[in-house]
Amino acid sequence: MRVSALCCAIAVGLLVAAAPALADPAQADPLVGAPGLGDPYYPMDGNGGYDVGHYDVGIDYDPPSRHLIGQTRVQARATQALRTFNLDFAGPEVRMVTVNGLPAAWERSDEHELTITPLLPLLPGLPFVAIVDYAGTAVDAVGAGWTITPSGGAFAAGEPHSATTWYPLNDTPLDKATFALHATVPADWEVMSNGRRVRNEVRGDKRVVDWESKYPVLGYLTTVAIDRFTFLEQRRADGTPLLSAFAPAAEHNRETEQRLPEILDFAENLYGPYPFDVAGGIYVDADIEISLETQTRPIYAPWTDLETVVHEIAHQWWGDAVSVRQWSDICLNECFASYTAEYLWPEQKDGEDVDAKYRERLAETLGRPKFWRIPLEDPGAGREFSSVYYRGPLFLHALRKQIGDDVFFGAVKEFLRAHAYGNASMPEFRAFIQSKTTADLTGFFHAWLSTEAPPPDEFLYPGVLRV
Ligand SMILES: [Zn+2]
Repeated sequence: MRVSALCCAIAVGLLVAAAPALADPAQADPLVGAPGLGDPYYPMDGNGGYDVGHYDVGIDYDPPSRHLIGQTRVQARATQALRTFNLDFAGPEVRMVTVNGLPAAWERSDEHELTITPLLPLLPGLPFVAIVDYAGTAVDAVGAGWTITPSGGAFAAGEPHSATTWYPLNDTPLDKATFALHATVPADWEVMSNGRRVRNEVRGDKRVVDWESKYPVLGYLTTVAIDRFTFLEQRRADGTPLLSAFAPAAEHNRETEQRLPEILDFAENLYGPYPFDVAGGIYVDADIEISLETQTRPIYAPWTDLETVVHEIAHQWWGDAVSVRQWSDICLNECFASYTAEYLWPEQKDGEDVDAKYRERLAETLGRPKFWRIPLEDPGAGREFSSVYYRGPLFLHALRKQIGDDVFFGAVKEFLRAHAYGNASMPEFRAFIQSKTTADLTGFFHAWLSTEAPPPDEFLYPGVLRV
């Protein structure tokens, strides 16, 4: 995710109340799936007791009335015996739930809990299918989920969670699943999503569009966008199809998006093969403060520039193919996406002296305690989208200089390969980098990642940065 310059200043000041503690698992009913997975920042996100393999999300959306009719089919496997289990859902009114074809009872509570009691309990190790039918007026979450655009269209985007506003799911970074969308809209509207568009048909006054993501994806990295889009079709040299879309007021970004093949080549050269089979971008028209790395096809706000596109494309490796284990690991996503766009791209494409840029940035910020106040690793709930953007690139540039280009670029490529389509944490990243060098990085990592002050000079100016 990239936040607009205006938003950053606000985000730094944001503080969210401490997350509630989970109930003592020892006292939990063994036949009840946990309503949350205990993420340190968002403990109620995700659910216990099952593992989703595939989502089939069907929506029928009418832009003028904002009426959304949905049917989501969740294919999962129980990992324990379950008398009840939860999905995360904050969307329109639930009309019916079935599990394995039989009617199930349900109850909604708190921010996004949908507790489902199947007619027959689920057995550990066995697959099951839950189908949730829902309908109602979609609520405008303004960049934190379902978002209404000035044209009357809509799209879904938001981090760390947004999918619950339009379909029920296991909303955690720890449960990736394949994803298919079947959308029906009035014939004069278009529908964009992740993955491959496998159907786009007009039937009478309706348009029916199907999308398929064959690579597993997390909830907040799925999207749907409905607008009167125009399209840009391109291809990479290897044949990978690229499909991008522009809302009527977002046409000004077409020239930037034409550089997508070049940006993918650049990122692939740094981080290894592009992890997906298709790519593109969705340029929306809405007054939102974020652009977001939705898988294969980022959502771009109107203020998007070339740096933003490079940032969101870098996320396809850092965030999408390899995802955080917990939100306290966010530096893996944002430090790398920001460093790629702000340092590596200008260095390679424009010949910019990024060592000089780094020193200038330090000169501007060493006297500003606020700049260093939020640590990069485990920044705290509500503060995770702050220092990773401005302190993160400095950390990675210093790390690169500390261990040398060969070790740095070799190690990050290998780290991505080792965790592809799965999850990784900051402690795993530290241990992996440490295993690639004889230098003891304990002090370096502590100073850069875990303190609330600038690192000492030995870590600020390693190697060629020494002045
Ligand atoms: Zn980002």
